[in-house]
Amino acid sequence: MIKCMAVNAGSSSIKYKLFEMPEEKVICEGLVERIGHEDAHFRIKYNGTKHDDYLPIMDHKVGVKLILEALIKDGIVKSYDEIKAVGHRVVQGGKYFSKSAYFNEDTEEKITKLIPLDPLHAPAHLMGFHAFKEVLPEAVTIAVFDTAFHQSMAPEDYLYPIPYEYTEKYDCRRYGAHGTSHQYLANKAIKDYFHGDASKRIITLHLGSGASLCAIKDGKCVATSMGLTPLGGVMMGTRCGDIDPSVYYYLVEKTGKSSAEIYDELNKKSGFLGVSGISNDTRDVLSAAEKGDERAMNSIRLWARRVADFVGSYTVRLGGVDMIIFSAGITENSPTFRKFILDDISEALKIKVDWAKNDLLIGKEGEITAEGSQVRVLVIPTDEEVMIARDCFSAFEGKL
Ligand code: ADP
Repeated sequence: MIKCMAVNAGSSSIKYKLFEMPEEKVICEGLVERIGHEDAHFRIKYNGTKHDDYLPIMDHKVGVKLILEALIKDGIVKSYDEIKAVGHRVVQGGKYFSKSAYFNEDTEEKITKLIPLDPLHAPAHLMGFHAFKEVLPEAVTIAVFDTAFHQSMAPEDYLYPIPYEYTEKYDCRRYGAHGTSHQYLANKAIKDYFHGDASKRIITLHLGSGASLCAIKDGKCVATSMGLTPLGGVMMGTRCGDIDPSVYYYLVEKTGKSSAEIYDELNKKSGFLGVSGISNDTRDVLSAAEKGDERAMNSIRLWARRVADFVGSYTVRLGGVDMIIFSAGITENSPTFRKFILDDISEALKIKVDWAKNDLLIGKEGEITAEGSQVRVLVIPTDEEVMIARDCFSAFEGKL
């Protein structure tokens, strides 16, 4: 039995979860957010206890020190050498990583090379890595990549129809994201619902503030909706997803804004926020739609339509579909948002929904289809951290 720490460092936050492995027991979890601010937030939760502190946390190093000090202070660990492995989530693994890797000089060099593909997260991942390494120099450290699961895609699924020299010279292609989540969902479905039969055709829907879909066969990704970066695919909280690239050029011409400004707007001011003009939070958008706000309702219908388009295309790609899995913030928690999608796909896929079951499943796992449904539809809360902890344990055993 060993302790493994799963770390998710973003540009201004660090989320962490300490596991006892291989039991997969969560010992404590928490976050540091608003790093770089005087009123940053530190949280630790364990054994039903929760502490919140608001204090200046000016960089990731200070954030990590707070986390580790709290582990000792609150008696969660007696000494740091109890933490045998640390796994860091890394968003972009480019062409280099098709599975998790030891966080060594070579891995760091490759992540650094990939910064242009992920300028927002990659530097934060490296800061998180160094900050933990300083206090836990002996722990086995690994990087777990959001893109790794998607490396099994065939060229016709990841290439862009652009001049080939750009693909070759700049590695400009589809990488996808949320791979750890899609893989967790597929593994769980195969083990718990298909008695280990990996040949089943599964479409996983990770629909949170960031959102992507994945088509899975033989336990492997064959297609996924995010692209070169997480801006591609379905519409999201603030991101536009796939659009005609001319929109970008046209808006630069029309507005006189720089290409960087328009790009920023496609990332941060589009999606639910842009279309509804209300919020990127789907709870606010739904409540406005229920009060009759037309733009809010259009944004929800547009989102559902884009998701349905991908489900249709992936059904063809897989030669049929055996299971559809809803996951992540919006569709783990909202029967209403699931219904918008189900209304758009059920007729074509001959899905028979048990609406009472759908209404009951909020933040928990279960099946929402009725007898006779041609496709099984499930809700499974995702767990990217346990995947990181599992790889930490394998790495500790030298079996990564
Ligand atoms: P990310 O990890 O990409 O930040 P999450 O998967 O945590 O996103 O999803 C967060 C989003 O889920 C929130 O922004 C909110 O829009 C949505 N959400 C959470 N609970 C509900 C709910 N009950 N109804 C509708 N939307 C919800």
